[in-house]
Amino acid sequence: MITLDLKLPDAHYPIHIGRNLLTRTDLLKPHLPIPSAAIVTNSTIAPLYLAPLEQALKAEGIATRVVVLPDGESYKTWDTLNLIFDALLAGNCERKTTLIALGGGVIGDMTGFAAACYQRGAPFIQIPTTLLAQVDSSVGGKTAINHPLGKNMIGAFYQPRVVIADMVLLDTLPDRELSAGLAEVIKYGLLGDAEFLAWLESNIEQLRARDPAALEYAVKRCCEMKAEIVGQDEKESGVRALLNLGHTFGHAIEAGLGYGAWLHGEAVAAGMVLAAATSQELGWLNAADVERVISLIQRAGLPVRAPDLGLTNWLEHMGHDKKVEQGKLRFVLLKQLGQAVISSEVSHDVLQRVLSGQN
Ligand code: NAD
Ligand code: ZN
Repeated sequence: MITLDLKLPDAHYPIHIGRNLLTRTDLLKPHLPIPSAAIVTNSTIAPLYLAPLEQALKAEGIATRVVVLPDGESYKTWDTLNLIFDALLAGNCERKTTLIALGGGVIGDMTGFAAACYQRGAPFIQIPTTLLAQVDSSVGGKTAINHPLGKNMIGAFYQPRVVIADMVLLDTLPDRELSAGLAEVIKYGLLGDAEFLAWLESNIEQLRARDPAALEYAVKRCCEMKAEIVGQDEKESGVRALLNLGHTFGHAIEAGLGYGAWLHGEAVAAGMVLAAATSQELGWLNAADVERVISLIQRAGLPVRAPDLGLTNWLEHMGHDKKVEQGKLRFVLLKQLGQAVISSEVSHDVLQRVLSGQN
């Protein structure tokens, strides 16, 4: 097991990464202010992993309640959030009850937001069960639910007490979800670490085959980078925005096709290709660099061509992205492979060329 530290001005927590950690109550217990917990999970994960966690907690004398939510991004809503509050209140859970998110990014985001709100703030722990959640959503304290008018529009910055990433849980993850997580892994290499990018190019097949050592190394490296970036900029006033590489285009794909048509990671993958193409238009990357990006994304089992949304739709959906500041579109682009920058100076002509070059 490897343990990383995330240090923020008013929070400091460990990220444990390893195998067979789900029942390691020694990692959880020090973070529970009272022996009372509520596990929040969904109907897909519950039959796989709920019983061992629940039993381990009960064996330690921890009063444990369970909230099983329906599975899916379409349930990341107020109504589902209320099911968590209903269960906590019906169970007389006091404010110091620790909420444990056992699931992917949807469960993690909703449980975190519920914890931020419940009695003005209950402790919370992340046990991410998807690759995407292990390398991205469980670390850094962004929590949210969706609104009919926009994804992740209602939420809070609220940090967990500990993050426990157990590689074994990834064994049951569908291949498509694993690839979607790899999109975020590749993102870290592209935005800040050329050496890690080269490592990914040599190890992408091992990662897809769920080689334990390769997965553990990748999760560790991504969490290190995320912890470092979030440590510098918790509330995304600067450097944290680099983590949105591929996301302005990606969110437009998700919204343009209707949420759920493509997985988030798939949209981000095609979005990173567009970000690379835009960087080439600006003279920062050359054709061989862009080819490297495309090839790695393809080998990860991800789409490299965005769907044809039509220029008007692209601009409209990118305009609704949270990355818009004072009406200007902001893109995360690549100065070189392994070095991302934020730019709000991409001209309409460049965008038009990049987006039409796709189709
Ligand atoms: P998800 O939570 O929907 O999980 C994907 C699917 O895999 C679900 O059907 C889930 O039930 C299933 N699953 C999860 N773990 C499994 C396992 N071990 N075995 C078998 N099946 C399993 O999707 P996700 O990709 O983990 O997360 C996407 C969400 O994360 C989005 O809502 C996105 O907005 C959010 N997100 C948040 C942040 C953040 O910083 N808070 C960052 C990135 C993404
Ligand atoms: Zn993402």
